[in-house]
Amino acid sequence: MLGVYVHIPFCLRKCGYCDFHSTAAAPPVIEAYLQALANEIEFWARQTAGELCSTLYIGGGTPTILTPGQLDRILTKLAAAFNFEPGFEFTVEANPGTLTPEKAQALAQAGANRISLGAQAFDDGLLQKIGRAHTVGQIHESVGLIRKAGIDNINLDLIEGLPGQSLDQWQAALAQAVQLKPSHFSCYSLILEENTPFYQAYQEGELTLPPEEETAAMFAYTQEYLPQQGYCQYEISNYAKPGREARHNLIYWQTYSYLGLGSGAHGYYRQIRYSSTEDLGRYIRSWRKHEPAYASWEPVTADQAMDEMMFLGLRLVKGVNLNSFYQRFQCSVHEVYGAEVDRLAARGLIEEREGFLRLTKLGRSLGNLVFSAFVRPPLRS
Ligand code: SF4
Repeated sequence: MLGVYVHIPFCLRKCGYCDFHSTAAAPPVIEAYLQALANEIEFWARQTAGELCSTLYIGGGTPTILTPGQLDRILTKLAAAFNFEPGFEFTVEANPGTLTPEKAQALAQAGANRISLGAQAFDDGLLQKIGRAHTVGQIHESVGLIRKAGIDNINLDLIEGLPGQSLDQWQAALAQAVQLKPSHFSCYSLILEENTPFYQAYQEGELTLPPEEETAAMFAYTQEYLPQQGYCQYEISNYAKPGREARHNLIYWQTYSYLGLGSGAHGYYRQIRYSSTEDLGRYIRSWRKHEPAYASWEPVTADQAMDEMMFLGLRLVKGVNLNSFYQRFQCSVHEVYGAEVDRLAARGLIEEREGFLRLTKLGRSLGNLVFSAFVRPPLRS
């Protein structure tokens, strides 16, 4: 399994809570970036020549900020550069308000078969409060454009625990979102990241978040409501209609390999974890000369690979396949993590079922506590 991720680090403007690598940029910078990215695509196409790739994911930022011509050029280049398996999942992230009929057509013509739409909320007041550059009406409009272009595999991103959001509002948002009949939902809780305007405002007492119990109630409600509507929870924050699980994201959670192309992208290939520079100027200057521009590049040790397989695999409702772990590392989960597993099982947070170690329902609501138990200090053998 090999996935390909491509980062487009541009947005209309910055949302108040966002610490992703993205910025508003002038058209000449975007064009220079795409030319540099084209050179990086050629580099990685040569490195992976002949290797079968399973998924392609264009994320950001806001990929749909590109013009229809730019989208067509970069997506067509990507689809031709790598050896994708037949019927591969080809996702593009889109934000309402940046999608036009021409762009939706360009995405479909280039082969995109899945769109991940950043809806985030279904209340114009909330959308404005968190700095989104779109309205509820534009979410509906975008879903219509995507379907009209012939793409029926649609994910909606939603955020729970927004400033001033009540449980009632969250329930209403989910009900509205379900009416759009997407095939997939990603529902993440708002996290206050340092270096964001939200973090600053919170520190200064100018931003009020829902109490923890209210956010926990939203999470619990989502776990009840979406399955009733036919969306199976297959990961802590992700729900899908049967067969519509995000294949690209499964590559991350199952710790398969993926390439990360573009400024700020992360990759994991041949036991090397790497990231590209977030310095846009450096990225453009380097790749213009066909020179790689990495910020980090380090081999992943066996211990690190085991830890990752555990804490990422436990995000999946199915859990970690104990046999796969053994096949991969020639030792069992119990030999490596026996004490942690016993302790967490005694607290009712994890359980073993049919060859998988997984979170219990209680464990799902305390996921971070469980995951941290599987991160060992680097030097422990
Ligand atoms: S649209 Fe997404 S990537 Fe862009 S600023 Fe907002 S949250 Fe960040």
